Amino acid sequence: MTVAALTRWLAERLAPAAGEDARFEARLMAAEALDVRPNELPGLRDEAAPAAARERAEEMLRRRLLGEPLQYILGEWEFMGLPFLVGPEALIPRPDTEILCERALLLAKARGYRTALDLCCGTGCIGVSLARRGGLAVTCADLSAGCAALTRRNAEKNGVALAAICCGDLFAPLRGQRFDLICCNPPYLSDGDMAQLQRELTFEPALALHGGADGLAFYRRIAAEYAAHLNPGGALLLEIGSTQAEQAQALFRKTQLFYDYAGNPRVVLVEET
Ligand code: GLN
Repeated sequence: MTVAALTRWLAERLAPAAGEDARFEARLMAAEALDVRPNELPGLRDEAAPAAARERAEEMLRRRLLGEPLQYILGEWEFMGLPFLVGPEALIPRPDTEILCERALLLAKARGYRTALDLCCGTGCIGVSLARRGGLAVTCADLSAGCAALTRRNAEKNGVALAAICCGDLFAPLRGQRFDLICCNPPYLSDGDMAQLQRELTFEPALALHGGADGLAFYRRIAAEYAAHLNPGGALLLEIGSTQAEQAQALFRKTQLFYDYAGNPRVVLVEET
């Protein structure tokens, strides 16, 4: 079987699980199975795929057809143009969250921010990106020890030294610490959302998804606690669910809203003053 045939076979078999993404996913899977970069595939089209690569591809396909997200199967995913290790202990980094990161980098540059906190860091995708791309001194925090460990590995993978990685409930491990910028993509799905999760989402940790009965529990807690952790002139950036803008903004005094590429409200900026 040639590399082209293997990729085509994967795309056909992936169609029921991946829909219109089947060809895209097939290319990523084939490249992983062959241990090459996706952009090397065209040059290898007519080469024979080794038996070991075919077996790896079959195993990845088997997992994918059970609904597991491609990102967990590959073990690595790109965010802000940087590679991040992903695993079932943390949310998969999403393009929506890049809106928050881009805004954070713009604000940091315009205002000369030096320090940042990535609260509920998960993979560390926000904090590591801010350290790498913005040169900020970043502290990452997460309730999950598994996420703190994953963030440490992702900082190493991207060659950045984080100021600290803390493990604890929201601001609990950050007593007495203040930052120029606080970024948070908290769990924000409601009970109703959790009851009808798309199959792929059931593989992600509920801890990273569920934001209480109405999905707003973390915004309320953050609203009560963030001011004690911001420097004068600092700012808070929150990712929100597309239907939560009004309720989330109502919890804070001075806010501004930013939209994702689909035109949905996605990020709330809260000013310290
Ligand atoms: N900060 C991580 C991300 O944006 C994890 C967020 C979370 O666990 N809710 O992907």
